[in-house]
Amino acid sequence: MSRNILKENLPFAGNGLYVHVPFCLSKCDYCGFYSVVPGPSTVDNYLAHLAKEAQERLGAQELSFETVFIGGGNPTSIGLDNLKRLVDIVTTCLPNPALLQEWTFESNPETLTAEILDFFASLPAIRLSMGIQRLHDHELSILGRRARIDSVYRALDLAFSRIQNVSGDFIMGVPGCPSLADDLHHLVTKYPFKHVSAYFLTVEEDTPMQRAINGGLLPDPADVDASELYEVRDVLAAAGFEHYEISNHARSGFRCRHNLNYWEPCNYTGLGPSAVTTTDDIRLSNVADLERWLTGEIPAIEHLSPVDRRNEYLMLRLRLLIDGLDIANLERHFGAQGDEFYMTLGEHIDSGNLLRHENQVRLSDQGLQIADEVMASLFI
Ligand code: SF4
Repeated sequence: MSRNILKENLPFAGNGLYVHVPFCLSKCDYCGFYSVVPGPSTVDNYLAHLAKEAQERLGAQELSFETVFIGGGNPTSIGLDNLKRLVDIVTTCLPNPALLQEWTFESNPETLTAEILDFFASLPAIRLSMGIQRLHDHELSILGRRARIDSVYRALDLAFSRIQNVSGDFIMGVPGCPSLADDLHHLVTKYPFKHVSAYFLTVEEDTPMQRAINGGLLPDPADVDASELYEVRDVLAAAGFEHYEISNHARSGFRCRHNLNYWEPCNYTGLGPSAVTTTDDIRLSNVADLERWLTGEIPAIEHLSPVDRRNEYLMLRLRLLIDGLDIANLERHFGAQGDEFYMTLGEHIDSGNLLRHENQVRLSDQGLQIADEVMASLFI
């Protein structure tokens, strides 16, 4: 399929625009994401091709994105001048950037400078998502993170003096480390975070951490106590955060709009290596390799079947712990659900994994621990 056919036949639409910046200064010990170390010509080539991809996919269309999310990798690893070029490329795709409801930049603390933050603060509806992960040097070192705690606090001081809407990403279940809860309590008491994401550690295959676990040098994170999830939730709830999604907590009015768009789910457009675009039942996945993406390799095209879309909808809705799954909406989108669905649903309600109020079904505290199992049992 030629690129022109791809452009003409597939509508690129959606409420959210994601741009993937595939650069990190070094590799964290657990991470399997594709990233490369930024060099001057690599970043130049990336930005030139990003402008081309944005023009080809979005240029002729009047899209009014509500949110922009610049993720990575570590976007601020490319430096201020390149970030300005990236923002220019993105704003040419936006008919009216002033109408954006949210513009998120991800960043790791060690590459955040006062100048970059001043620039971010000039963007409309700016939201900063900081990859903090842990709050002690030895814990950051177990994860192979580049930042040390002094640079984390330096970046937090710089960020909170310029940007109001700041989110922090954290990792739970780090082998050999205590619960994150106490440290998080101190941090959200000291800094006015609007949003916190807390994920259990996932160790990818063929990474230094996986090898250390296999060699018995680190405990297996699969054996960690799930109580850390509830301890973190309780600390954040006491500080005024709502646990609105399995891994996400927000103060009122500060849920991540861009991610809510994925969870609704709605259409979205992705640019850059490994970025994904979904338009109704068509999903395009850009190749997760900078060199191949630079040659213009055509994205992988997946046609989502009604069953795929129904299962994904159900899974994403059940991740939303407050809004949950509306069964009337499920049937409106995907037709009447069979006896087996209602039987399994009833069993989960009886055993306390799911709570039901009229048409709305959501995970209980008990169900949260086995969320994947509950969701899979409702798939067809
Ligand atoms: S965890 Fe994030 S910062 Fe670390 S290597 Fe992976 S993408 Fe880069």
